[in-house]
Amino acid sequence: MTARTTAVIGAGFGGLALAIRLQSAGQQVTLLEKRDKPGGRGYVYEQDGFTFDGGPTVITDPGCLEALFALSGRKMSDYIEMIPVTPFYQLCWEDGYRFDYVNDQAVLDRQIAAKSPGDVAGYRDFLKYSQALLEEGYVKLGAAPFLDFRSMVRVAPQLIRLRADRSVYASVARFIKDEHLRQAFSFQSLLVGGDPFSTSAIYALIHALERRWGVWFPRGGTGALIRALVKLFEDLGGTIRCNANVARITTEGPRATGVLLKDGWQGRFDNVASNADVMHTYDQLLTGTERGGKMARKLARKRWSMSLFVIYFGLKGERKDLRHHMVLFGRRYRELIREIFNGATLPDDFSLYLHAPSVTDPTLAPPGHSAYYVLSPVPHLGNAAIDWEVEGPRYRDRILDYLDTHYIPGLKRDLVTSHILTPAGFRDELNGHHGSAFSLEPVLTQSAFFRTHNRDDVIRNLFFVGAGTHPGAGVPGVVASAEATAGLMLGGAA
Ligand SMILES: Cc1cc2nc3c(=O)[nH]c(=O)nc-3n(C[C@H](O)[C@H](O)[C@H](O)COP(=O)(O)OP(=O)(O)OC[C@H]3O[C@@H](n4cnc5c(N)ncnc54)[C@H](O)[C@@H]3O)c2cc1C
Repeated sequence: MTARTTAVIGAGFGGLALAIRLQSAGQQVTLLEKRDKPGGRGYVYEQDGFTFDGGPTVITDPGCLEALFALSGRKMSDYIEMIPVTPFYQLCWEDGYRFDYVNDQAVLDRQIAAKSPGDVAGYRDFLKYSQALLEEGYVKLGAAPFLDFRSMVRVAPQLIRLRADRSVYASVARFIKDEHLRQAFSFQSLLVGGDPFSTSAIYALIHALERRWGVWFPRGGTGALIRALVKLFEDLGGTIRCNANVARITTEGPRATGVLLKDGWQGRFDNVASNADVMHTYDQLLTGTERGGKMARKLARKRWSMSLFVIYFGLKGERKDLRHHMVLFGRRYRELIREIFNGATLPDDFSLYLHAPSVTDPTLAPPGHSAYYVLSPVPHLGNAAIDWEVEGPRYRDRILDYLDTHYIPGLKRDLVTSHILTPAGFRDELNGHHGSAFSLEPVLTQSAFFRTHNRDDVIRNLFFVGAGTHPGAGVPGVVASAEATAGLMLGGAA
């Protein structure tokens, strides 16, 4: 019997994980990536001897990646070394307060007691709540496809019991009184594109997820992890093609028949799975079809996550006082987040995430140098039509000035290279709708059954994987979505 053939469009973490699952199960998979390198949001920029990971840097639940190797009896450690990172993050505020977000209960208790003695017990209760969310929302349901409304009804009692209708911030605030600590335990939903003030409390599970399995960094950077996944896929006999820009998914009636590339190459496949942006897939790749038009109109009415402005930069010298992951809260929290998610202009102030990977792995910069990126969440282009060609360099200078003044004195003097990624880059390079960095916003009314289904309802051999599908953005999220999608594809559902 000949193996079933599948085209996977897009080599982000989700596309790679799906391709590995299918290939491990004996399918013949062709992975088609538009850009010159795989990785998607995890693309690597190499510049002047520096290696800059483009996106994900906080690797949580490494077990979900290990599982991909174990499918074929292999070990992840034979392909990549994962290094534990501590503190997980250092959180810094403009008033000088700092909190080391670590995985050591005694150290956490000590810091919380010093800041707000009444919150020690409240934090413990929050952790228990977060652990219950993790069990229900991730361990049990993370990799379960929600194809029909009944599947939603079945989980409704758990969602009600865990108060999924509340926001992340509101849930944290029930347990913790101090405002700095409320921010310290609610900002995590921003890491998957969720506004802590409107995203479902389910996303408060991220805290327990980090506490249970830790925060890790691959030696050589996230790009080395991507290369390890590509090598695994190729060792299994899979085919990956870069510079393979898919123009169309070809269809005959309610079936996908294959793909057509922009360069004219055409391939027939039994199944097609898209890891590309869900709007791009329906609107562009299925353009002219009834199904594509209908779904594109539906997606146009949805809320999309914010975008990001990222500066990758290299410095002469090393900065021993920095931590690998730092969150630099600006002067406003709730109001700033509201403007980022709903505003029509670029806010005057910012909160930043600073990535300083040379702290863990000096090989990412030339000897005597250090590599960084700093990101600022910004409105997506559908809300704020900013001309980033003009604004980008200005915004870069404002952020670098701020870092030079507050956190990295001498930055501008020691700057040897930099590169920026703006919302326009998310739109043009990654085909992200509105330049969103995380696809559909993870609010309850756009989650599970209400998110793009892992299998299309009409074109039943067309599948989806990645941030726009259940369970959502973030590396563990998209890797779980691959498990849900592979389950449908291998169950013979097509
Ligand atoms: C700056 C940044 C930092 C982040 N930090 C973290 C973090 O620390 N930890 C974490 O867990 N998550 C993080 N995230 C989120 C995480 O990176 C993403 O949610 C996840 O990587 C998305 O994976 P995906 O499978 O949806 O695919 P994507 O990464 O979106 O990849 C989709 C791929 O499809 C390709 N494609 C699109 N259209 C076509 C086409 N027509 N033909 C062929 N190919 C096409 C694209 O080029 C791309 O390679 C971060 C995201 C960003 C942007």
